[in-house]
Amino acid sequence: MGTVAKVMPVTDDVDSAGFFDGAREGRLMIRACQDCASGIHPPMAHCPYCGSWNTHWRVANGRGTLHTWTVVERQVHAAYPTPYTLVSVELDDVTRVRLVGRIPGAPELTVGLPMEVFFDPHEDDVVLPNWRPAV
Ligand SMILES: [Zn+2]
Repeated sequence: MGTVAKVMPVTDDVDSAGFFDGAREGRLMIRACQDCASGIHPPMAHCPYCGSWNTHWRVANGRGTLHTWTVVERQVHAAYPTPYTLVSVELDDVTRVRLVGRIPGAPELTVGLPMEVFFDPHEDDVVLPNWRPAV
């Protein structure tokens, strides 16, 4: 079996480019509303919580807590060998935002575990924020 390409996001979309540009620079950028202070993810120009168009990019501190996770044991794509664990992480300093990460294997985890972001380089100059237990 040859090398199979991973599934990559569109990184130059008008709404989400700031997220991927930030990751390429080692910063976790989150769209946020300046009127109600909600984080908005997936990022968009309009706040879905209060209706404001007064939104901007802000740097998140890259810390979070584990909300939930699932271990994937049945391989569905050749580029992603199993087992791996998908984690949902609630950001510590941005309200209403949970981000997804992928951890190889099936580590021992607990709800509320402190997590930290790291920046995972992929092909074609794509860098994805990913999560691991904080040390
Ligand atoms: Zn708002």
